[in-house]
Amino acid sequence: MRFADRPFLSAAGRPILIASAAVVIGWIVSLVLPGYLVYLGISAVVIGVALIGLGIVTGTAGMIALCQLTFAAVGAWIVAWLNTAGVPGGLYVWIPLGGIAAGIVGLLIGLPALRLRGVNLAVVTLAFAFAIDVILFKVQFPGTLTGTSVPRPDLVASDRAYFLFAVVVLVVVALAVWLLQRSRVGSGWRSVAFSERGTASAGSSVRTAKLTAFAVSATIAGIAGGLIAGQVGNLYPTGFTTLQSLALYVLSVVTGSYFIAMGVVGGILWVLIPELLKRWGVPQDWAFIVFGVLGIQTLTTNSNIGEDLRRLWRRLRRSRSIVRHGALEPLDEEALRALGSTAGPGTAPLLEVEGLSVSFGSLRALDGVTLTIPERSITALIGPNGAGKSTFVDAISGFLPQHLGEVLLDGTRITRVPPHKRARLGLRRTYQQDRVPPTLTVGAYMRFIAGAASDPAEVEELLEYFGCPGPDTPISSVDIGTRRMIEVAANLAAKPRLIVLDEPAAGLAHEEHVAFAQRLKLVPSRYGAAVLIIEHDLELVRSVADSVVVLDFGRVLASGGQDEVLKSPEVIKAYMGETEML
Ligand code: ADP
Ligand code: MG
Repeated sequence: MRFADRPFLSAAGRPILIASAAVVIGWIVSLVLPGYLVYLGISAVVIGVALIGLGIVTGTAGMIALCQLTFAAVGAWIVAWLNTAGVPGGLYVWIPLGGIAAGIVGLLIGLPALRLRGVNLAVVTLAFAFAIDVILFKVQFPGTLTGTSVPRPDLVASDRAYFLFAVVVLVVVALAVWLLQRSRVGSGWRSVAFSERGTASAGSSVRTAKLTAFAVSATIAGIAGGLIAGQVGNLYPTGFTTLQSLALYVLSVVTGSYFIAMGVVGGILWVLIPELLKRWGVPQDWAFIVFGVLGIQTLTTNSNIGEDLRRLWRRLRRSRSIVRHGALEPLDEEALRALGSTAGPGTAPLLEVEGLSVSFGSLRALDGVTLTIPERSITALIGPNGAGKSTFVDAISGFLPQHLGEVLLDGTRITRVPPHKRARLGLRRTYQQDRVPPTLTVGAYMRFIAGAASDPAEVEELLEYFGCPGPDTPISSVDIGTRRMIEVAANLAAKPRLIVLDEPAAGLAHEEHVAFAQRLKLVPSRYGAAVLIIEHDLELVRSVADSVVVLDFGRVLASGGQDEVLKSPEVIKAYMGETEML
């Protein structure tokens, strides 16, 4: 069954059902919760909102942000200011405006994230949180000093009604995040977390992915801040300190708040732990120590509550973690004929590389490589380990901008074009190392890589052609050889002019090489793409390649028709050594 014809309910019905149930549960809780807990309940929900936002940056996109409550303070500040300025509409209008303002600030804070990673990024966000801390203590929130508190709208004036209001906001935010996570934007976040290079080769801008993650996360924090303004009425900087942002980060990591439900769990822990400590007569500040210990536990076990629960759930359903999804079967004569025939290569040059040189320090990995790939041809690039094959692929796909020489695609000079734009121009590549994000499903990955060219029917056809599992399969459950095939299929779904495959068959069982070669051979005629394949298995090379280029110590040792090249004594000596026979 194609995923386009799946009934609407199974795709979108479940979250709407869960959302409605959450509102009903929130309503019941708002009625039965003892009065003194309702106020704490509001805090739990509001922090839940902030955590769902934080999960996008720390979980989905794999970055570190230690200033989530600072973004909340921006939202709260705007709400308080709109109140003192007498802007009509009340919280219903002020909260979204606060969210937008925080989102803009998030975008600005996200800018350093384009260049920084890990600890350096953490330091930037921490410095920002600390700076705003200091400023807030000086200037205070608008209205606080004059005693103008933020009023709640009449409909949600009581704590119980405000609790329900907060629950509704949380549900709306959760649904929006759920939709985003499943969109191309969300796939971009997951892809960036796994591999920036992989993201760029999908024609997707790493910059956009990081900035949108920061902006969306901050917007949601701003909304949470606006809710806090309505909750407390009189805002004080003590509710938005750096220390609390740090604790929130830890809670996000501990719970795995990129799972939306875990954001809610985190919100509950946020109020529950200090409350329990209070009851046991322990100072509430000790909650930070509890969070710290939980954080260390999480970081050392490299897991979180969300992942643990998911693993438990899978074990209960007895699904195995890695599934072998049917090997690539060799095709008989008849099946091959049914797939079409090879048209033979074209004559017009598609990729022209002139004098390409790359140095890593004193090592010359590529030394004046010149070659031409005609359209709809299959070229094999061979050579011993360390010859510079992967370096060549990195250079022509734009990841080594310091190289010398020129690269032309279809007659256009692309030497200075960044990787994601080369991908969009039709130069696609796969990787020797795994760059397929395990957090996506096969279908989401295909849509992400194929982008605008993604056509569900064609995606299904390509998956089947390369013996891949269906679109709903989580990539985490797919073995490495099949992942390579999914990567090839996805990049072909993008309708490239040239697809460069860096040892695509490395993860396949030996018997599958023949089956893969049969399919690869038909790629130019079926999908209109030229192929450049790096491959060690000469049997495979011989059965698919129109021409062969041999690289050794960064230089082209030989190139031409496969017969001529593979039989040249020089090549046999350099590449195959004495043992491998032709
Ligand atoms: P191949 O793919 O043909 O096995 P590579 O292109 O990966 O070879 O590597 C070519 C040479 O460049 C090797 O000597 C390798 O150690 C070196 N090299 C590759 N990438 C880097 C890098 N980022 N920094 C330094 N040296 C590198
Ligand atoms: Mg290599």
